[in-house]
Amino acid sequence: MPDTDPRTVTRPTPPTPFMAQYLGMKARHPEALLFFRMGDFYELFFEDAVRAAEILGITLTARGEHDGAPIPMAGVPFHAAEGYLARLIKAGERVAVCEQIESPAEAKKRGSKSIVQRDIVRVVTPGTLTEDTLLPARAGQALAAVVVGASGQDSALAICDVSTGAFHVAACARDGLPAQIAAWPVTEWLAGEDDAARDDFKALTETLSAPLTLRPQRSVSAKAGEALLKEAFGVVDIGAFGKFSKAELCAIALLLDYVKLTQAGDTFRLEPPVRLTQNDGLIIDPATRASLEIDRAFTGARDGSLLATIDRTLTAAGARLIASQLAQPLRDAAQIEARLDAVAFLVSQPSHLEALRTELKSAPDGERAATRLRLRRGGPRDLATLCAALNTGERAAAALLRSGDALPMRLSAAAQSLSLSGAPDLQAFAHDLKQALATDVPVLTRDGGFIAPGWDARLDETRALRDDSRRVLADLQARYSAETGLAALKIKFNAVLGYFIDLPAKAGEILLQPEWRTRFQHRQTLAGNVRFTTDELNELAGRIARADDEALAREFELFDAFLVRTETLARMITAFSEALAVLDVAASHAAYALEADCVRPVIADHPVFEAKGLRHPVVEVALKSERKGFTANDLSLDAGDVQAARLCLVTGPNMAGKSTYLRQAAIAVILAQSGAFVPARSLTLGLADRLFSRVGASDDLAKGRSTFMVEMVETAAILRQATPQSFVILDEVGRGTATWDGLAIAWAALEHLHDVNACRAVFATHYHELTALAETLPHARNASLRAKEWKGTLVFLHDVQPGAADRSYGVQVAALAGLPKKAVTRAAQILKTLEASPSSAEALPLFAMAAETQVSEPVPSAADALLAEINPDSLSPREALELIYKLKALRDA
Ligand code: ATP
Repeated sequence: MPDTDPRTVTRPTPPTPFMAQYLGMKARHPEALLFFRMGDFYELFFEDAVRAAEILGITLTARGEHDGAPIPMAGVPFHAAEGYLARLIKAGERVAVCEQIESPAEAKKRGSKSIVQRDIVRVVTPGTLTEDTLLPARAGQALAAVVVGASGQDSALAICDVSTGAFHVAACARDGLPAQIAAWPVTEWLAGEDDAARDDFKALTETLSAPLTLRPQRSVSAKAGEALLKEAFGVVDIGAFGKFSKAELCAIALLLDYVKLTQAGDTFRLEPPVRLTQNDGLIIDPATRASLEIDRAFTGARDGSLLATIDRTLTAAGARLIASQLAQPLRDAAQIEARLDAVAFLVSQPSHLEALRTELKSAPDGERAATRLRLRRGGPRDLATLCAALNTGERAAAALLRSGDALPMRLSAAAQSLSLSGAPDLQAFAHDLKQALATDVPVLTRDGGFIAPGWDARLDETRALRDDSRRVLADLQARYSAETGLAALKIKFNAVLGYFIDLPAKAGEILLQPEWRTRFQHRQTLAGNVRFTTDELNELAGRIARADDEALAREFELFDAFLVRTETLARMITAFSEALAVLDVAASHAAYALEADCVRPVIADHPVFEAKGLRHPVVEVALKSERKGFTANDLSLDAGDVQAARLCLVTGPNMAGKSTYLRQAAIAVILAQSGAFVPARSLTLGLADRLFSRVGASDDLAKGRSTFMVEMVETAAILRQATPQSFVILDEVGRGTATWDGLAIAWAALEHLHDVNACRAVFATHYHELTALAETLPHARNASLRAKEWKGTLVFLHDVQPGAADRSYGVQVAALAGLPKKAVTRAAQILKTLEASPSSAEALPLFAMAAETQVSEPVPSAADALLAEINPDSLSPREALELIYKLKALRDA
């Protein structure tokens, strides 16, 4: 039989008007799942339905036919859509939301067969979220647009957070892009389909864990950037925002075009762009960021990171701000000092700090609520959130001002933005919101009931009418029941029938009799019930519906009036939210400083790092949980003084604390330059332009690079880029290869850092040969971590001393780690041979050692043997005393 019978071939049938509408919408966003609104559901069709059903675990059904085949369909209820959206976004999907933009009644007016008009109101993507349910409250969101310049210099980033309106533009060199972008909590990034920049995109894909969205190259032009800026901010000239380079304008075009697309033509709600230059902050490349575990530990979790250790913020906006400040430390002394002044003030006033933090505890996320309202995506609960935030902010400012002392600039500016008395319009707005909103408000406007009684006379009137109708309905039910003698008669409501009279089947039979039939018109018979209506009931139902509609419509009007005021006051509300976050961050740093005994860093004007009693905040906490203390250490480097050492070469046994010592120095730079106190007795710091860290070896097999390759790539970046203002920590360079190659590389790297980079650097190594080098280099010096052998075991003292370590104690550490005794003893033998004559290494049959060597287990001493025999519990005091004499005699023998 032939494959197809010509008589049964299905010809493509023209789509129904409904299908044509669906396909038209789908064609606009083929890459996204289309949520197609139909009544109380969002329906998905075809491939979208199959994919969504699989991800969400919802039922896949079919509806009608298209081109002769059933159309797969799946749906999610409108009221629960956010939860489903969240799961789809998490699964890496994008969702286009298509709404009905007229009611079925309006559609009918155009003809009985007209279908309801629909339009895409938004495309939900991982970088353009605004809903509380879709966004982690304490983490920021960044949508980044990347433009790679052809010249190697002219590259740019444009970054925004649509949930708060923050908008930044940064120009940088092409190879600076990864460091620039890694400072942001990127959740999605955009690039033009530019083949020439493919390698750069690949590098960025490796740096970021966020999805890349490629956009048509035509949306990337300086002209489009300028036009979109004008449109977004309603200006005729963009000069007021600064002078943008061509690459910056292209990045702006890429970003704003996508924001516009995903917000589906909704007017932009972004703050004016803030321009950043490479000189603004401390540059930290992605490898350094990861190795210092700034906002994420190696496990990928927030727990165990520097951020998690020091974050004491109490508000969501504060948590986002502290994360961004730690990710982007500053380089401007005045700005850093201003932040430090604020922290110092609160540290010096613990009772005010406490009072301030008590107020902050109850501050909700007004920042995101206000943005949702401005985007017309918010509901009554967002108004309530904004109202609560405004009132808390006012109280927080009052708590601060109560101190009576002159506040440092940053705090007084924040207090000013927060005190509503200085902003009568905002004060009136907060007051009105408090009066107008009911105590328990719904999420959605359509649910009504969010305006409190007494706020609006017209609403009160309509509600009285509605409530009165309800009473009339109850009277009607009582009357019908009395007239018919049917006690079971009830007036009920459902969405299909509206109001109806409901009776159990048997009682229902009675009303079907001729004497009642004309008055009680039959509507429906179910298995156990019969339903009726009357003219009187219909008329009353109409009245109730109208009163309900009227009340709701009035509530909508009142809600809209508040939206208009939110928009008018947008600038002030933004400043207010920012001020609250600034206070929260300063208070968090102060609380942590008091708790963890931190000091204010002294900012110097030359490249010095002079620390006394420095500690590693994360390791210290980990040790505390094991009831162990942390040993504080000093470090002194000066790259501005020709007499002083700028390079410290650290040696010491394994496990002695070398990496911890290196990292705590780098962490101190980050904390100080982000405006926080540092865990130390004192720190004087000349601001660093770049921070480099190469600590520990890790494979990057996913990216096709071995341990050694990763190490060399990172070391190369440091040696090429570090300047005399930079701060570098390097751990165990050259460990991933053969001994002599490794030593040679470490040697050369050390010399290069010393002679060429001339930066502050701490260099840890196991190559003891290098310690001699440090003695000959004028700006290098040795330091070592001590350990002691005590009763046959190794004790780490963790304190740093001048001078080189005498040995590595590697074999002892291996024994501590539980290496079999036989292997440890053999290792000790080999070490002895090698130390006596290093050239004998080649002669040693290294890989056959265990089999070929007779390792004699140590014979227990007579005292050991005696001790092994006794049972302490069965000894009398006299026997115990005798035993001590015996043991002493054995030892002296
Ligand atoms: P290796 O050479 O094996 O890499 P290391 O010398 O770099 O070791 P670290 O990894 O820094 O040693 O530290 C090992 C452990 O020692 C830490 O996990 C911590 O528990 C403890 N430690 C490190 N520094 C200190 C300190 N200053 N005070 C107390 N304990 C410390």
